[in-house]
Amino acid sequence: LVRMRHLCKWFGEHEVLRDISLDVDSGEVLAIVGPSGSGKSTLLRCINLLEEPSAGSLNVGELTVEFDHPVKRRERKALRQQLGMVFQSFNLFPHMTVLENICLPQRRVLGRKRDEAEAVAKDLLEKVGLTDKAAAFPSNCSGGQQQRIAIARALALDPRVMLFDEPTSALDPELGLEVLSVMFSLAQSGMTMIVVTHEMSFAEKVSDRTLFMAEGKIVEAGPSADVIRRPQSERARRFFRAVN
Ligand code: ATP
Ligand code: MG
Repeated sequence: LVRMRHLCKWFGEHEVLRDISLDVDSGEVLAIVGPSGSGKSTLLRCINLLEEPSAGSLNVGELTVEFDHPVKRRERKALRQQLGMVFQSFNLFPHMTVLENICLPQRRVLGRKRDEAEAVAKDLLEKVGLTDKAAAFPSNCSGGQQQRIAIARALALDPRVMLFDEPTSALDPELGLEVLSVMFSLAQSGMTMIVVTHEMSFAEKVSDRTLFMAEGKIVEAGPSADVIRRPQSERARRFFRAVN
């Protein structure tokens, strides 16, 4: 469903992603782990074109974008329609209720009518366990609740792939668990997910494959238990020793 070939990204003289090739099948959950500064967020941001790759190509579904020319507005829009993204910070609109936060993008992006958008929003709020928060404002929700609302908001646009960048790292462990449990059910439901995470237990239990990055390269990739428990390279062994 997602295919990346020879993707490179430079920031000025600094090569942050070096020849990344990667495939994610439909229904697969891929975890991306690695030291700080290894390029994990940049890789994720290249998938939804928040950063424009310097070279290579990207496929999502039937859409192909080649980075030998500047990305066209139409390409960016078509690509983003297939992707949902959840960041470390929740970025909810503070002056709108939880329900309105989930309805607004549906109405703007998909042109859904108010009733339909509300029905979708209520259904998703139930899925993330927050039916009782529909009329609340984000400031009256805990961090874990806000992140679950952000997940519901992304899901409301019917993405084919969900991208997560350290969705729990701004939360204390207990609230993080609420979010991980929502992500776990999402994975069970067959959603294709790419998750940058520091949570090795999540990577090991939920993701099908784990990709270990260092210095802008994929150093190891394979079934999560293999990569995390039996890393082949010295670089990965050192990393997993430090985090476990
Ligand atoms: P962390 O675990 O700390 O989130 P990361 O693996 O997500 O790290 P990135 O944020 O992708 O790492 O950054 C990779 C490298 O690219 C870093 O050296 C960073 O300084 C650099 N970088 C990221 N964004 C930019 C930017 N907009 N301009 C210049 N350099 C950048
Ligand atoms: Mg990052």
